[in-house]
Amino acid sequence: MAKLHLHNTLTRKKEPFEPIDAKNIRMYVCGPTVYDFAHIGNARPVIVFDVLFRLLRHLYGADHVTYARNITDVDDKINKRAFERWDHKSSLTKAIRDLTDGTLEQFHKDVDALGCLRPTHEPRATDFVSNGEQPLDMVRVIEKLIANGNAYAAEGHVLFNVPSMEGYGALARRPKDDMIAGARVEVAPYKRDPMDFVLWKPSDPATEPGWDSPWGYGRPGWHIECSAMSGALLGEVFDIHAGGLDLIFPHHENEIAQSCCAFGKPGQPNPLMARYWLHNGFLQVEGQKMSKSLGNFRTIREVLNDGWSGEVVRLTMLKTHYRQPIDWTLKSLEESQNVLDNWATILRNFAEPEVAGEKAPAEFIDALADDLNISSALAVMHGFARGARGGDRADAAKLFDCLSLLGIDISTHQAKADALDFQEAIDPAFEQYITAAIEARLAARAAKNWAESDRIRDELASKGIQLKDGKDANGNAITTWEVKR
Ligand code: AMP
Ligand code: ZN
Repeated sequence: MAKLHLHNTLTRKKEPFEPIDAKNIRMYVCGPTVYDFAHIGNARPVIVFDVLFRLLRHLYGADHVTYARNITDVDDKINKRAFERWDHKSSLTKAIRDLTDGTLEQFHKDVDALGCLRPTHEPRATDFVSNGEQPLDMVRVIEKLIANGNAYAAEGHVLFNVPSMEGYGALARRPKDDMIAGARVEVAPYKRDPMDFVLWKPSDPATEPGWDSPWGYGRPGWHIECSAMSGALLGEVFDIHAGGLDLIFPHHENEIAQSCCAFGKPGQPNPLMARYWLHNGFLQVEGQKMSKSLGNFRTIREVLNDGWSGEVVRLTMLKTHYRQPIDWTLKSLEESQNVLDNWATILRNFAEPEVAGEKAPAEFIDALADDLNISSALAVMHGFARGARGGDRADAAKLFDCLSLLGIDISTHQAKADALDFQEAIDPAFEQYITAAIEARLAARAAKNWAESDRIRDELASKGIQLKDGKDANGNAITTWEVKR
């Protein structure tokens, strides 16, 4: 079988993948800022690196891959929005947590619908600012940077001193003037060098979240969270670090500076934070940059509400190689819909056990192992589809296996017309009624009024709505619903 090769932004080359420890491959992907609904561009890294996660699990064993994707829940846009909505009855910290809990729950619904596996770890930045229960936190990383001579405190701030690190800029490879302009760093009197970036800044307790620290009440800069959380969960040096192209500079460059300097010895930074740096290309909509002002801004939820299924969205995202820019168009969605309709029809001719094969075929894995070469992989799949259409059971099983490795669940795939009927059945008023009933039921359960809770569940069941009880990441009870089929 072909060896896995990945394009590494650090070297600008496709390289053979050599794991640090084949029993524990470690991957970190920069996740969303949970400020608002995730848009379809945010879905791209989530989907493409989910396929890489699945491929690594296939190659090295499902128990030998650790995947961490963070949740940024300290951010000025979040603070501003939470402050505006704050009712002053509870603390500002709680108002922020309520906002990010809601957005995170929606993010989970969205990416679950797109067929993405949950990462092994999904750390929230706020849990790693200053927290003795974690193996490492941001305050401790900053303290190490100060002790190693790479950072300094000034006027309630702590700054990373860029000239203290030889080799800064190795990932972005940009001229210094460019980096200064690109980083859009603030000019401030307390800075020793214009490139120095913020690790810690003071917070106004009346309007901003904050933590006590050796440098006063404040909050972390953005970049430090990924150094602390990857260090805590994956170790000082790990295998793969990924994210969107826009993160190469300054975010990833600064993560490297922080992690290499904090985890190395004074004057001798670690040579690496992660061995392979992967970046997905950007997503445009109908040939234009996606933006609210152009009116072409699409959230994941809107696309799903339009009746496109998770599988269709996923295939549409995966059809373009992950490093290329992708043009998100109606035409492309329709083409994916046709391909999946076609494959579902072919596979329906085979009984379940006949299509449920054992493992993805070698030629398909070989294609993906070549830096996720999706066009070769899809060509292989179209070949199996032709064979299956001619009645070849083995080809049908192979097509099925390729689809499951890509995370595309063909067994639940519906033709677009059915999907639309289903969406239309749930009108907004009915959805509101369901949400209110679920809330009333959660309140009844909290009050241990089981009779009322059961009554509400049965009432919804009589209307074709099935409830599922579970717990969120914080152990609070949550209830989700689906239409009974
Ligand atoms: P953010 O929530 O803005 O920090 O972004 C979360 C992730 O989505 C990052 O990896 C970004 O690089 C990625 N991302 C944001 N916008 C796009 C886009 N239009 N196309 C592709 N990836 C994007
Ligand atoms: Zn990051």
